[in-house]
Amino acid sequence: MRQSTYLVPTMRDVPADAEAISHQLMLRAGMMRQLASGVYAYLPLAKKAMTKIEAIIREELDGIGAQELTLPALHPAELWQESGRWEDMGDELIRLKDRHNRDFALGATHEEVITTIIKDGITSYKKLPLNVYQIQTKFRDERRPRFGLLRGREFIMKDAYSFHDSEESLHETYWAMHEAYSRIFSRVGLTFRPVIADSGTMGGKDTHEFMALASVGEDTIAYSDGSDYAANLEMASSLAPEPPQSQEYGLLEKKATPDAKTVNDAAAALGVDPDHILKALVVFVDGEGSLLLLRGNDELNEVKALHELGAKEMRMATEEEVVDLFGATPGSIGPVNVNNVPIYADHRIHGMETIACGANETGYHYVHVGPGKDYQATAYKDLRTVKEGDPSPDGQGTLQFAEGIEVGQVFKLGRKYSESLQAKYLDQNGKAQTFLMGCYGIGISRTIAAVIEQHHDENGIVWPVSIAPFLVHLLALNVKNEEQQALAEAIYTDLKQAGIDVLFDDRGERAGVKFKDADLIGLPVRIAVGKRAGEGIVEVKVRKTGEQLELSKEDLVQWVK
Ligand code: ATP
Ligand code: MG
Ligand code: MG
Ligand code: MG
Repeated sequence: MRQSTYLVPTMRDVPADAEAISHQLMLRAGMMRQLASGVYAYLPLAKKAMTKIEAIIREELDGIGAQELTLPALHPAELWQESGRWEDMGDELIRLKDRHNRDFALGATHEEVITTIIKDGITSYKKLPLNVYQIQTKFRDERRPRFGLLRGREFIMKDAYSFHDSEESLHETYWAMHEAYSRIFSRVGLTFRPVIADSGTMGGKDTHEFMALASVGEDTIAYSDGSDYAANLEMASSLAPEPPQSQEYGLLEKKATPDAKTVNDAAAALGVDPDHILKALVVFVDGEGSLLLLRGNDELNEVKALHELGAKEMRMATEEEVVDLFGATPGSIGPVNVNNVPIYADHRIHGMETIACGANETGYHYVHVGPGKDYQATAYKDLRTVKEGDPSPDGQGTLQFAEGIEVGQVFKLGRKYSESLQAKYLDQNGKAQTFLMGCYGIGISRTIAAVIEQHHDENGIVWPVSIAPFLVHLLALNVKNEEQQALAEAIYTDLKQAGIDVLFDDRGERAGVKFKDADLIGLPVRIAVGKRAGEGIVEVKVRKTGEQLELSKEDLVQWVK
């Protein structure tokens, strides 16, 4: 591919809201553009990487007997009403009406649709088990689309669904998928962990999330340093013993306190001693981390949302910052230690606008005043009853925490959808039975971003060979120099003939610009045709290791292969 005519609009300055490094790099490397919040165009470089990820997925899934199909993205409301998720999905489901005023949803996931199709298509146990998958755009009106491809409102997912006549059969497919996922994520170059997860609104029981380790990740993984145990925080916590009830705070309940105008009012409505629980006002800033701001017991309505701040770390704010941000009186602010327990942020409550927080030796509690729900206070007993350095719930080793990006999930759904949609087959005895089901997702667009989160340096992306858009970046350093130009053209032809994927920078740019762009785009091998072109010698650089060597045109193809 000739770069002079390739759609790769590299960019120097990225918008301030591009907080995640993968988002910044993909914009700068001309891989994507935003159309609306959480809605992106994948430009050719991104599309090529995505196609390679898809090929790996197809190879692994076809290899365990899954069958590819394509389901509609436009879903009649009745399907979602039957399963109950027309209600349960809330605002995340994008709804629309057709010209006859009939309700539809855009596919956020496809359990309902596939169950309906299978219900009509499979009548006998003889066709079971069945495992089908598709690669398709999904629509979810996320409350906080952010971090570029990591959380979009329109994104690309591989989703698979399996149908069974026994628990054993479901179990077998579940683990075959689990293993296929491990191979897929290894092959795309991710460092990841499968973790025991909570099945949430999907229903069902056994489920694992595949977490790519990255500091930008919105999930916390609790893992043991002495065994394979790894779980998401909710699951690890649910296995830990309940802490003794706090003497001072009790277990707090969720209560609407619409009349509360101040922290004191909210605390009173919750039956909490404001002197203890509300010594601090904590504001979480949407961003890579959280900014923890503490100030005296004061009116909530003075607190400003700090979204624009783009805080990059979690720390105590300085007095100066608090004065600046809140217009507070200098001298009235200080870090607060409640009963000697430091207060800190939790990833799961990112995105809430204002939070009052209290803590004691058994844990800590939050009062949340959510956006659009003025002064409606909710008290949360923190789930983080497991702590880093506690023993691991499996009793082997100690527990460690790490941040992760959920790139995939496997579920044993059981009969949730087959029951609500009445999907039945006839068993050996001719008796009608509801299907057992599993479902399995991989965020393909999210995976690209996760790979970049793990594979970059200060100069740009460092693609793993397996999913690099091209293997080679060939640079003609001075296109005005006929010798150089001729050699570059000849090498371009050689590489293409050898079946090597090559991006040829034949633009009339300066060498410095080309080197910079090559590092930014991050293809595995850079071949620069420059001063020694006359001798037929070029300079080769390996992006990942920085290793450089000079090779003759004759040896080049062999070396690259
Ligand atoms: P999350 O917890 O991050 O909201 P999820 O649990 O809602 O994700 P699933 O329903 O399990 O997501 O969907 C399967 C996969 O699709 C996820 O593991 C993730 O990789 C991907 N995915 C989900 N939501 C998004 C999104 N908004 N943008 C990009 N990828 C997504
Ligand atoms: Mg979600
Ligand atoms: Mg999830
Ligand atoms: Mg999930």
